[in-house]
Amino acid sequence: MKVIPASFEILDKLDQQSMATRIETCGRLCYKSEDKITSDSTEPFIRGIIKHGHNSVMEMAALTLKVEVDSDSLIMQFLEVIPRYLQFDRLEKKVLLITGTVRAFRELYRDNSSVKLIKAVAAYLGELHPLFFSDLVPKRGWVPQSGVKVNKMTLAEVDALSADLLAKHRYIAVKIITNRAVTHEIVRHRPCTFLQESQRYCRYSDDKFGSEVTFIKPMFYEKGTEGYELWERAMMETEKIYLKLLESSSPQAARTVLPNSCKTEIIVYANLLEWLHIFRLRTPKNAEPSMREIMIPLFAAFKEKFATVFGDLSLDTF
Ligand SMILES: Cc1cc2nc3c(=O)[nH]c(=O)nc-3n(C[C@H](O)[C@H](O)[C@H](O)COP(=O)(O)OP(=O)(O)OC[C@H]3O[C@@H](n4cnc5c(N)ncnc54)[C@H](O)[C@@H]3O)c2cc1C
Repeated sequence: MKVIPASFEILDKLDQQSMATRIETCGRLCYKSEDKITSDSTEPFIRGIIKHGHNSVMEMAALTLKVEVDSDSLIMQFLEVIPRYLQFDRLEKKVLLITGTVRAFRELYRDNSSVKLIKAVAAYLGELHPLFFSDLVPKRGWVPQSGVKVNKMTLAEVDALSADLLAKHRYIAVKIITNRAVTHEIVRHRPCTFLQESQRYCRYSDDKFGSEVTFIKPMFYEKGTEGYELWERAMMETEKIYLKLLESSSPQAARTVLPNSCKTEIIVYANLLEWLHIFRLRTPKNAEPSMREIMIPLFAAFKEKFATVFGDLSLDTF
């Protein structure tokens, strides 16, 4: 067995990649098949994800659109459908800022294909990113809509938004390596998108996992204490049983004996406003200590990276 400390990485380098690359990179975390990424792997991976309905993978890329209309009644018609899972702000009477993930835009069109502004957005995105929308192309093909101008904003343009708008429209992903108890708590934050290493697919007896189970160093027990010794013994015994079960059953069956201390990887993707909500709940003293171990330094990193939104905040304000 292996014991490692908890850690995190802000995946800001992915922000510089194409949406397809970031979707594949994040999606492969579930299967721990990052080693299968090649120059030709992205397209079949994404087609497979859409076909099999592994929908949350399509939430791992958000984009921001500036939509200008000739008549503000088109905006009213759009708002009447009560768009879900999108952030939108009216910059001017006839200008709308809309941010959503690939999945949110796909389903916006799938469920409201008669609304003119939505048709215009789908036509724009369908032409710009055919891979994500090819199964939704209408019989006549994508038809741009008169009176609606759609443009995708660059990341630099989003980053230049005022603090209020930035908090809603800037999405950022963080990869966290922690134990299963912590991820069980993190996934309660509903506005986020999550992708997590799957114990159904990962077979820890395989070479690529070192033929062993990895556990997260418990922060409750110091090495050399009786508590640590008991914890270590329990993990060793569990690993032995898990590996024995794998000789005759599948990972999804054998995983039923794995404990909370098991190492897992999770990508959490959310806008800055939701991250702020998470820091408010997960850094104070009443939060779970292993959660605080991640969230306190993560908050410090966000303060530095997104000073416009987090710069004036400190842990005492939560
Ligand atoms: C110290 C602590 C102890 C906890 N103990 C327990 C426990 O014993 N048992 C337990 O089950 N959970 C527990 N939780 C989890 C807690 O109840 C929340 O589920 C979790 O913290 C997610 O936070 P949230 O619901 O505020 O916001 P999120 O899910 O992060 O949502 C963010 C915002 O989205 C909005 N929102 C999202 N979905 C809805 C909705 N369906 N309806 C209305 N508004 C919505 C809200 O405005 C909310 O502010 C605990 C959490 C903490 C921090």
